[in-house]
Amino acid sequence: MQKETPEFLRGSFAVIDSILEKAKKIDDLKIVSLPKFVRVLNYAEKDLLDKFLWIDPEEYGIRMEFFGHNVGRPKKLIPIIGQKRIFPDGKRKIVSDQFLPKTAYIAFGMMNKALHNATGRRLVILSGYRAPAYQSYIFLFNLKKYDFDFFKVVKIAALPGYSEHCGWPDCQAIDVIGSSPAGRDLSVFDKSEEFRWLSENAYKFGFNLSYPRCNGAGIVYEPWHWCWHSRQLPNRGEINF
Ligand SMILES: [Zn+2]
Repeated sequence: MQKETPEFLRGSFAVIDSILEKAKKIDDLKIVSLPKFVRVLNYAEKDLLDKFLWIDPEEYGIRMEFFGHNVGRPKKLIPIIGQKRIFPDGKRKIVSDQFLPKTAYIAFGMMNKALHNATGRRLVILSGYRAPAYQSYIFLFNLKKYDFDFFKVVKIAALPGYSEHCGWPDCQAIDVIGSSPAGRDLSVFDKSEEFRWLSENAYKFGFNLSYPRCNGAGIVYEPWHWCWHSRQLPNRGEINF
């Protein structure tokens, strides 16, 4: 039976706001450890964050693996700096610095090169490694963005500790966008040459589409989210119902 929205959320919107404001001021927010993140919070903020850390997503119909909150940062985390993103309207922007554990970084590089050789297109990583503290920020950011609709957000953003963006050493997710006209647009990314190529070839480099349509995890369809697994999985490709 599905639970109701967590009761502690009621009346805590101002506290969420203040956590978001403090988080934005942390320089290395994407890779900061949870203890260091918590150090900048006051009692009420810490208390609220702690409640989020202990939500069991399964009680809300989401079935995801738990990787842990206090997992150590991968030893070899490679920064990816200066990637150029082209928007559907042709505007260009430098993507904020991203990070990947070395093995996933090498696998991605090989895959991107093979994609370019086959199609002339390239992928840009919009989101790579996210420490659990940063995943907390992403979850709270989305809660605010979607008017504190917990049931909606729990299907869009993983709760801290459950994200494949912090599944090291088992796995490492990337959110990508391409360079073709459809590839530049997340809303039609699954119609792009890049997506078609990935569906047929990504598994050769250890990457799989985690959330096809109607996936068992209960997460929305995410054609841009590909996960590198340290143990290669068979190609699941896209599942259409
Ligand atoms: Zn993702």
